[in-house]
Amino acid sequence: MSIPDSSPTDLPAILGGEPAFPIGPPTWPPVPWPEVEEAAGRAMRDGSWGRYHGPNCRQLTDDLAAFHSAEQVQLCSSGTVAVELALRGAKVEPGDEILLAAYDFKANFQNVLAIGATPVLVDLDPKTWQLNPALLEEACSEKTKAIIASHLHGGLVDMKAVCGFAAERNIVVIEDACQATGAMVGSRRAGMTGDVGVLSFGGSKLLTAGRGGAVLTSRADIAQRIRLYTQRGNDAYPLSELQSAVLIPQLAQLDERNETRLRNAKRLAGELKEQGSPLASIAPLDDESTDRTAFYKCGFQYTGESLSRDRLCSALRVDGVALDPGFRALHRTHSRRRFRSVGELPQADRADESCAMLHHPVLLEDERTLEHVVTAITRVLNHATEVAAAPEPRC
Ligand SMILES: *Cc1c(COP(=O)(O)O)cnc(C)c1O
Repeated sequence: MSIPDSSPTDLPAILGGEPAFPIGPPTWPPVPWPEVEEAAGRAMRDGSWGRYHGPNCRQLTDDLAAFHSAEQVQLCSSGTVAVELALRGAKVEPGDEILLAAYDFKANFQNVLAIGATPVLVDLDPKTWQLNPALLEEACSEKTKAIIASHLHGGLVDMKAVCGFAAERNIVVIEDACQATGAMVGSRRAGMTGDVGVLSFGGSKLLTAGRGGAVLTSRADIAQRIRLYTQRGNDAYPLSELQSAVLIPQLAQLDERNETRLRNAKRLAGELKEQGSPLASIAPLDDESTDRTAFYKCGFQYTGESLSRDRLCSALRVDGVALDPGFRALHRTHSRRRFRSVGELPQADRADESCAMLHHPVLLEDERTLEHVVTAITRVLNHATEVAAAPEPRC
C-alpha cells in the first residue's frame, strides 16, 4: 500500500490534513488472489460451476471436517441460516428459551424468534465483552433449551465455563464461530467446543464466497435433524459448487493468515496500550493463554471523553482507516415483549455505546502500515476537541 509520511501531531484528514491512507482501507477479498482464481478457473473448465453436484462441495465438506475434527459438516447458504439450522438441530421448539448475549449479531436474536422460541439476554463480561458465563445460572429456567455463545470482535467466550454449566443441565451449546473461524479455543477449533458450531462465508468474513455458511457437529442426532430439515428432495439452503470451489484454497491458507492478523493485532493493541490510548483491545492478547484467537474485527473498548465513539470512527474513515461502531445491543433495539432478561444489562449498554472495531483486512499488511494506522488514530485523538467540533464528514 502507498502511504504518505505523517506524524501523530499532524492534522487528521477531517481537519484538512493529508489522509493517512488516500486510497482508503485495503479491500476484502484481496485482489488478485491467484489460488482462488485458479480454483474458480478449474470449476469453469470442468463444468462443475454449472452443476447441482460435483467435486467441490464434497471436498470442502471433507476439508472443513478435517480442519475442525468434526464428524459432520453441513454446508449451507449463509451463517444466518447456519444458526437457524443449529437451533433446529438442537430441537428448539416454540416456547423454549435460548440464552444469548445481550450484545450479539442481530440475526442470532431473530433466528430464535423465527422458531417461536424466546431469547433470554445475558450481560457481558466487563473486561472481554463476551457472554458472561457467571450470569447463566440466573438466566436459566426449566424452559432453557440452548445457549448461543458468539465469539465477537477478536474476543473468545469462556467456553469451558459455558460448556460446564450446560452439561450439568442438558442444555445444548451452539458456538457461533462466524467471527472467529480457525481460532483455537483450548485444544479445539472454534465451533467445536460446544455441541454444534456455525461458520459464515459471507462477503466480509475470513473465508468468503460472498455468501454461504456451514454447521459443524460431532453429534449424530443433531446432524440427522439438520439433514432431515434441509433435505426436501432437493437441498433447501444450498452452497453452490462454485462457492465451494473458491473456499477450498482459502481454508488451506487460513491458519497462516490468522497468524499474521494475530501478530499485527497484538502489535497494534500493544502500541495503543503503551500510549495510554482510550482504545483498549477486548481480545485476549497475552501470551500465557493456550487459546489462539482470530480476528474478523479487532474490537476495542473506547473510553475517550472529549470525542464521541461515532465521531472517532467517522473521522478515521476520512483518513482511510476502517474503524466502525460495534453492534447495537439487542435489548435496546427490540421491544421488551420479544425477550426476557435478568436484571440490568450494564455491560451490554456500555458495549452498545462505546465498542469500536477495526475491520480485519488491514491486519494482513506490513509493520509500517500498522504503525501508520496507530499514527492515524493518535492524530485524531490528539485533536479530539477540534474533531468533535468539525462538521460531519460526507462519506
Ligand atoms: C456474520 C455473522 C453471522 C452470519 O452472517 P451471514 O452474513 O448470514 O453469513 C452470524 N454470527 C455472527 C457473529 C456474524 O458475525
